[in-house]
Amino acid sequence: MPFLGQDWRSPGDQWVRTSEGWEKMRLWRVKIFENLNQNALARIVRLAVENQDHPQQDAGRRQPHVFFNSGGTKEKLELTSLSEAIVLLDIAGAAQDLRRANYVIKLLAVVFEEKLPSLSGTSQKLIFNILESIVNEALVSELNIGVTKDLLEQARASLHEGKHHHIGSPALWDRHMETVERLSTKINDYRMKERDTDGRAMLSDLPPDCLRVIFAQIGDHKDVMRASQTSTTLNEVTEESALWRKMCLHHFSNKQIMTFVVPASSGTDVAVDWKHIYRRCYKRFGRREIFADMLAICTHCSSIHWKSLGHPCVGEQKFQAKVLQPKDFLSLFKL
Ligand SMILES: [Zn+2]
Repeated sequence: MPFLGQDWRSPGDQWVRTSEGWEKMRLWRVKIFENLNQNALARIVRLAVENQDHPQQDAGRRQPHVFFNSGGTKEKLELTSLSEAIVLLDIAGAAQDLRRANYVIKLLAVVFEEKLPSLSGTSQKLIFNILESIVNEALVSELNIGVTKDLLEQARASLHEGKHHHIGSPALWDRHMETVERLSTKINDYRMKERDTDGRAMLSDLPPDCLRVIFAQIGDHKDVMRASQTSTTLNEVTEESALWRKMCLHHFSNKQIMTFVVPASSGTDVAVDWKHIYRRCYKRFGRREIFADMLAICTHCSSIHWKSLGHPCVGEQKFQAKVLQPKDFLSLFKL
């Protein structure tokens, strides 16, 4: 007979009832104190700025991190759970930071694609809190509206698909549905404000050469397609094969591109349809994900942290960090 503790699901944890349901006491404490600390820090920094001529920009910088324990040793019995990591890494807060928002959006996209039904009720609730945070931030900043709408679609599809085989109560699952519907209505009601005519240059006033450079840098081709629908000038530039060639070279390796480019037979000069090649490559290989900031794991102390913020490492030597793609981060947890 294997030994089971009194509460085998979460040994030694105290639970507390909150307005959002039952929560682990130690995570709830972090949530409460995190908010308090933020306010307190903001006040301290403000006071310091008033008193000092040269305030330190990093004075109030926090380093959210979580020690990752995969349960490999006898001394460290307690495993790090996904819900714990989400809270301690302040992922909901990261959704409001422009540098980290794309990473968080991709993380949720992966969850909706393959993991949602196998998450615990606590993790599900946290995921939908983050989704709400993403939608609110998109509406306030008027950025990432398109990807946020796509994410809500993915959430809806995932909820329909997992309806009959998910962890957690059916009532909770219905509540997620309601949340997605509410957020969808909210974002669909959003109308982009047109800039008043103030005599200054608009995007479509720029010379085609400038537009080509700008479009070639855009990470998501859907944004290029959206821009093409706004004016004839933009449409002409976005239809150019040369632009799609640049985008192909940016997102895909030569080997990937060569899968679809038919080598011209000697002597003939056949024009390559780069937009077509881009579409084929995108369908087969997906887009190369580029994030301004990412989660990373320290090879010395196994702390997961945000790369740009770092973590207080226990080691005396300079630590090494291995960056984690959203998929790698999720695969650390047994889901
Ligand atoms: Zn470390």
